[in-house]
Amino acid sequence: MGGTPPVAESDALYCANHPAVETLLRCNKCGKPICQRCGIRTPVGIRCRECAQLRRPPMYALGPQHYLLTALVALPASFLAGLVMQQVGPFFAFFLGGAVGGLIAEVVYRATHKRGQGLAWVVSGCILLGALASAGALVFFMPGAPLAALLNPQVLLSLIMRSNVVYVVLAIAAAFARLR
Ligand SMILES: [Zn+2]
Ligand SMILES: [Zn+2]
Repeated sequence: MGGTPPVAESDALYCANHPAVETLLRCNKCGKPICQRCGIRTPVGIRCRECAQLRRPPMYALGPQHYLLTALVALPASFLAGLVMQQVGPFFAFFLGGAVGGLIAEVVYRATHKRGQGLAWVVSGCILLGALASAGALVFFMPGAPLAALLNPQVLLSLIMRSNVVYVVLAIAAAFARLR
């Protein structure tokens, strides 16, 4: 009779992340002992944090490069949309705002093949920034407009007033609906 004796099931397990915590649970994929706090309930049973992450659908698995690509695509698109919507005005923004926001979200989705709340937040930020920047573009491209004026809260307020707020709100709502 050589080798190591088999460990009895009744032997106490200790959580792999919390060595002081005794537990009866094991991850059902890698078999690592985990405590109540570390275990994540998934449709296929309790798993450790690492194995639960692997289970997420790849469409929702996002890396920094996806956020970067999203910003690179959404910011210029939002800038253009902001310019157009500024000319269109708030009345027609009621009809067009959601469609434009959905279009920006669609372009982001085509570029990244990803979805998720994180992306929706980045796209929303881009829509807002794009609207403010395009509102500012008409001001700051005028000769003699000092760039220091950007730091003036009154100027910022006038940018918000100039940008099509109706469009911004509807576009952000549509982007969330599309990407969430
Ligand atoms: Zn595991
Ligand atoms: Zn633990």
